[in-house]
Amino acid sequence: MTEHTHEFQAEVAKLLDIVTHSLYSEKEIFLRELVSNASDACDRLRYEALTNPDLIKDDPDFKITISVDEKARTLTIEDNGIGMSEQDMIDNLGTIARSGTSRFSEQMTGDAAKDVTLIGQFGVGFYSAFMVADKVTVTSRRAGEENATLWASEGHGTFVTEAASRDKRGTSIVLHMRKDAKEYLEPARLRQIIKTYADHIAIPVVLKATKEGEEDQTLNTASALWTRPKSEITEEQYTEFYHHVGQAFDSPWLTLHSRAEGRIEYTMLLYIPEQPPFDLFNPERKSRLKLYVKRVFITDDCEELIPAYLRFLRGIVDSEDLPLNVSREMLQHNPVLQKIRNGLIKKVLGELEKKAEKDKESFAKFWSNFGAVLKEGIYEDAVNGERILKMALFNSTASDTQTDLAGYVSRMKEGQDAIFYISGDDLGALKSSPQLEGFAAKGVEVLLLGDAVDSFWLSRISEFDGKPFKSVTRGAADLEKITGAEEAKDETPKADEGEMDRLIALFKTALDGKVKDVRASSRLTGSPVCLVADDGDMDIHLEKLLKAHKQ
Ligand code: ADP
Ligand code: MG
Repeated sequence: MTEHTHEFQAEVAKLLDIVTHSLYSEKEIFLRELVSNASDACDRLRYEALTNPDLIKDDPDFKITISVDEKARTLTIEDNGIGMSEQDMIDNLGTIARSGTSRFSEQMTGDAAKDVTLIGQFGVGFYSAFMVADKVTVTSRRAGEENATLWASEGHGTFVTEAASRDKRGTSIVLHMRKDAKEYLEPARLRQIIKTYADHIAIPVVLKATKEGEEDQTLNTASALWTRPKSEITEEQYTEFYHHVGQAFDSPWLTLHSRAEGRIEYTMLLYIPEQPPFDLFNPERKSRLKLYVKRVFITDDCEELIPAYLRFLRGIVDSEDLPLNVSREMLQHNPVLQKIRNGLIKKVLGELEKKAEKDKESFAKFWSNFGAVLKEGIYEDAVNGERILKMALFNSTASDTQTDLAGYVSRMKEGQDAIFYISGDDLGALKSSPQLEGFAAKGVEVLLLGDAVDSFWLSRISEFDGKPFKSVTRGAADLEKITGAEEAKDETPKADEGEMDRLIALFKTALDGKVKDVRASSRLTGSPVCLVADDGDMDIHLEKLLKAHKQ
């Protein structure tokens, strides 16, 4: 049999170097990663078997088995999932497959102590096996195929593959444990780890008996977590499932577990992370929510399931009404899915509204992480946009903490009939903008809109609570009508009208063709000039933004 030697992708080699030498203390997570992969492999085969039942005919019950050989000092994790071909192994176990891991490698500094902390933050998937093993061999056979392949590596730069034999589909991973990792060969320790990390997994995780007369033991509850009654699920279990399903390592800021019953039935278990995921602002705006039909995993790439502005959600939706043989194509324009989507939006916004009302401090934290994303819904969702606008928080000249619009309206001055704002992309620059001077002198609050999306929703939404939004860069933001209490008496002598006219004429000739008009203004107190836009014209910042997008 010929053995092929392959080099790990450079990033993987670097990552393995850190992993093998790390003093990372929570080494036990390797088992979570491997069991999680085994469970994913079973999920994927179950999905393929929907259209090709022959694949699982001879062995329909999915299972993950863990066995220990104390003498050989090996720990084996085996599954009867989808398996891997030789090429699959080269692709998946030689390069950086998961996006979290690639992020990890981008962040690596070369300083071992610092990089170790990244392991916990991003997780390193399969490669975490090398934290406890000095050699790893993987034997796998893809479902529906005859040939099996062996993959082996000591984690130093290369791995080998060669043809192997295996009498059934699936994968077994043999870890040759390091001397300092012997604790993971003790059944009691293994039981404890599996209970912690794998209880939510819907497939039985079985620990093989080590001694004569002992029985194999199923260690987990082995029912999908979301099907269990809320009262029977502990917070730890919810968090573990979040780590598994969301490939996340923080704790959820919000956990939302609910079942819709009635004309259509579905269960959702959704999480809002505490930390913003790194891919939140990527232009594809993809969600990672997983769709299940009657406990069978269908896809984690379903645009119709949730709107892009909720893409920070993690978790699952399990439908009772979609057909089990639903193809990914059938999910487009599917009326059942539409209803689920609407229900999900309502539920999530409802929970957020509750939080905004009851726990302002915590909501502000959520908003600073995800507000800029959620605000996309103000203009993208014609039905729910207003609800989002209502809970939205904004920076303002009134205080350092953000305010909602109702708060702004309650502080409006007598005679003030508009919600004033200034928009731009640099909050610091906005704060020191000369256009604010006249407003500050009158004690009129101005919203400082510093997110790119603000300009978009402002072009759609013209008012809140009957008060129009008005940019301070527009012409007739007439301050005269407003009687500000803090207004200082104007002591500066009025300019001579004739002289003012001559000065303006001079400016007009000098700036001919560059500006539309030159006017004297009452809105400035410290700065000599500022740019404004005409009432009918586009806001200055929006104009810049559209130019940048070549529109
Ligand atoms: P992730 O699970 O986030 O994709 P991992 O590093 O944990 O990243 O695994 C990399 C890839 O290797 C998986 O995406 C999968 O394609 C493959 N893989 C790992 N373990 C198994 C397994 N037990 N059965 C089938 N494929 C597997
Ligand atoms: Mg994984």
